Amino acid sequence: VRIVADRERCIGSGQCVLTEPSVFDVSDEDGLVVLLSDQPEGDQEKGAREALRSCPARALSLAPEEPR
Ligand code: SF4
Repeated sequence: VRIVADRERCIGSGQCVLTEPSVFDVSDEDGLVVLLSDQPEGDQEKGAREALRSCPARALSLAPEEPR
C-alpha cells in the first residue's frame, strides 16, 4: 500500500509518530507530518494502518500502489 499524508489537514498532533515512528515524523520546521517511508510493508504497514485510524485530523489515507 501507499500512504498519503495531507499536510493541509494535519494539525501536528504527532499521534501518527507515536503509533509508527518508522513511517511518520513531524517536521522541525512547521510541525506537520512527514513520511519517512510511503510504501511500508509488513509490521510497518500494520503500524501505518493503525496510525491512519488514530489520526485525529484524518489527514492520512491509503492510495493504490503506483504502477511500476
Ligand atoms: S496524527 Fe494526523 S494530525 Fe497528527 S501529526 Fe499525524 S498526520 Fe498530523
